[in-house]
Amino acid sequence: MNLTKIYEKAPAKINLLLDVLRKREDGFHEVEMIMTMVDLADRLEMEELPRDQIVLSSQVGFIPLDEKNLAFQAARLIKERYGVKRGVYIHLDKQIPVAAGLAGGSSDAAATLRGLNRLWNLDLSTDELEVLGAELGSDVPFCIRGGTALARGRGEKLESISPPPQCWVILAKPPINVSTADVYGKFRVNDLKEHPSIPNMLDALSRQSFPDMCASLGNVLESVTLNRYPEVRQIKDCMIKAGADGVLMSGSGPTVFGLVSKEIKVARVYNGLRGFCKEVYVVRMLT
Ligand code: ATP
Repeated sequence: MNLTKIYEKAPAKINLLLDVLRKREDGFHEVEMIMTMVDLADRLEMEELPRDQIVLSSQVGFIPLDEKNLAFQAARLIKERYGVKRGVYIHLDKQIPVAAGLAGGSSDAAATLRGLNRLWNLDLSTDELEVLGAELGSDVPFCIRGGTALARGRGEKLESISPPPQCWVILAKPPINVSTADVYGKFRVNDLKEHPSIPNMLDALSRQSFPDMCASLGNVLESVTLNRYPEVRQIKDCMIKAGADGVLMSGSGPTVFGLVSKEIKVARVYNGLRGFCKEVYVVRMLT
């Protein structure tokens, strides 16, 4: 039998800015985030199955491959919602570090929705896929849209904005597991002395000013993660010392990213991390 096979890329996201405005009655936090994609991606291969079943595989052994996997949940959701009685085999080639604050699982879910929309000729618009994605997680709509966006609400209300100026992004993930729910649970909005400025960041991006973008980076969740995990602070300090132009923790952590405009500085920051952190990636912004 000749079964169709398709491929999708699922890039990682970083937060150039993450602010929390308040805790809502439904338990979620009202956030304002500026998110963008970087050139580090999982690769998904999707192939029709002759039976009505969702089957997942991956080259890494430490992620769930059942209904706990966000790609599985995405396939099940689109099948149920549109009455698709066909099966799919999905292979996840994981390149994005897991539980890192880089939205790897959300991006896999987004890529699955995009891919199955094509594989099963459902003809859904990006807007329709974003609405579907919001049922799976707050970061999934952004991962469907891609580019650079200002996110509000739980993170699902999106407005596309100017991309960042091109630069090098050095990602360093310490070998610790940080639970997003745990970080938000410990976060106290009233303890914040100041909030990062969305207008300053939007202005820096619209003028494509690399120095002003670096000066406007901010993530209020650092107040929790940096205090709880000294190794995250150590990586931040190390990148600053090595001359990175801007340094910030992504999402709830523990990954820290350093921004560098000149290639000559990349090696210095990379080498400066030796001994502190084994898992380091040098990538470009996806603009
Ligand atoms: P976020 O920034 O959205 O909180 P993250 O990058 O911190 O996400 P993920 O890599 O998405 O975290 O993984 C979080 C947890 O989700 C992992 O512990 C893992 O067991 C589970 N998980 C479910 N689906 C996936 C997937 N497709 N890839 C990786 N982890 C997944």
